[in-house]
Amino acid sequence: MFNAIFGFIFEQMHLHWGEKDDHGSEHVIDGKIFSGEIHLVHFNSKYGDFDTAANHRDGLVVVAFFIQAKGDKKNKMFAKITDQIPNARELHAKSFLAADCLKWMSTQELDKHYFMYHGSLTTPPYSEAVTWIIYRKPIHVSKQQIAAFRKLRAADNIHQITKNRRQLQTPHKRLTVIFAGKP
Ligand SMILES: [Zn+2]
Repeated sequence: MFNAIFGFIFEQMHLHWGEKDDHGSEHVIDGKIFSGEIHLVHFNSKYGDFDTAANHRDGLVVVAFFIQAKGDKKNKMFAKITDQIPNARELHAKSFLAADCLKWMSTQELDKHYFMYHGSLTTPPYSEAVTWIIYRKPIHVSKQQIAAFRKLRAADNIHQITKNRRQLQTPHKRLTVIFAGKP
């Protein structure tokens, strides 16, 4: 008897931010909005690829971390990403990130203190295919580190992407949110 083993495959990581440090996250926890939000998008391997998986309710898992900007103290681990932003400002510009550029994740307690709910992508086509895993504790960065993202150029290569968060949505049905607390 052969049993296929399925899992979730990492597809891409992207970030959301706002014009000011007091708004930028797409999720709001007990009324608290953070400066930004990191999304790590994964698809269910049983569907073969991201686009196919996005058509299924159990197709995607997005892991989210909040970013909170405060003061001038640079987050050195997160700087492995933000220090490269000036090299990638122009449309189609490329920069290379160090292999340990996601090490800031190690400062999180990854096995607890996260919320889970079933919802949609926050960008078109807004597919209802996402199991969200949202960590409660934000990543703390300097004000300059979040400001660096606002200087990235938009698709016209002229305007800057000063904000890219989706407006808060009212769920059309009651959401079931699970919080993984202390064991
Ligand atoms: Zn996103």
